[in-house]
Amino acid sequence: MTKKRYRGILADVDGTIVRGSTFIPGARETYDRFRDRGIRWIFLSNNATIPATLLAKRIKNLGLNVTEDQVLNSAVALIRSLNKERPDARVYTVGEPAFVNAMKDAGVVVVEDSEQVDIVVAAMDRSFSYDKLARAQAAIHAGAAFWASNLDPSLPIEDGFLPGAGSIIAAIETAAGHPPDRVFGKPSPDMAFIALEQLGLPVEECLVVGDRMTTDILFARNAGIDSALVLTGATSREDLPRYSYAPDYVLDSIADIRVLFE
Ligand SMILES: [Mg+2]
Repeated sequence: MTKKRYRGILADVDGTIVRGSTFIPGARETYDRFRDRGIRWIFLSNNATIPATLLAKRIKNLGLNVTEDQVLNSAVALIRSLNKERPDARVYTVGEPAFVNAMKDAGVVVVEDSEQVDIVVAAMDRSFSYDKLARAQAAIHAGAAFWASNLDPSLPIEDGFLPGAGSIIAAIETAAGHPPDRVFGKPSPDMAFIALEQLGLPVEECLVVGDRMTTDILFARNAGIDSALVLTGATSREDLPRYSYAPDYVLDSIADIRVLFE
């Protein structure tokens, strides 16, 4: 195995660091050890229901000593792109209050009237309704762009799954007649570009670690970053031949990343 000099780790959370609210064995020690050695970590989540600041707090409460700028989610990537690319756009949002408030706090013009919409933004929304679907459809039919936070079909919770953002976005896609114009969660590389900027490291010195081929490993590939698949979550070794792409490394668990650094 060729050893590279990685200085930054872009880590998935669920199935990689924790399962529910329990640490994957060795994950916490691995984080502490590598952080002490000067390796920079950033945690990436597709979940846009809570602000990244709250996500950082959750990870901290689990027992990992992380700062707010070490956590990114699809909401951060989407809001940054709105600010950068379409600062004056009028946005109709299907999303939860925390997400809508984060947009307003960032200066996004959030509107309710579907006739004056430049962009429909869709995310996980546990109060999704027929009325919201109809407004989104009307706005897109009237020419609004269609942006989505992420396409995860389900949302893992303590004792199972709930329908995820992807389930809601599929309903809007069907009503609107076309898929989203932009998607910000993994496997789209948007979060990677923000992460690299925040880490202050070049792409070849970073490693993506995650448990899902279709999000984490494809995300790494789309961003041109090396990747390590861990077998503590969604993927088993037997699944690997089904994919047309492969991770650079396959590890039993995140605790084994030390073999890539020794
Ligand atoms: Mg995962």
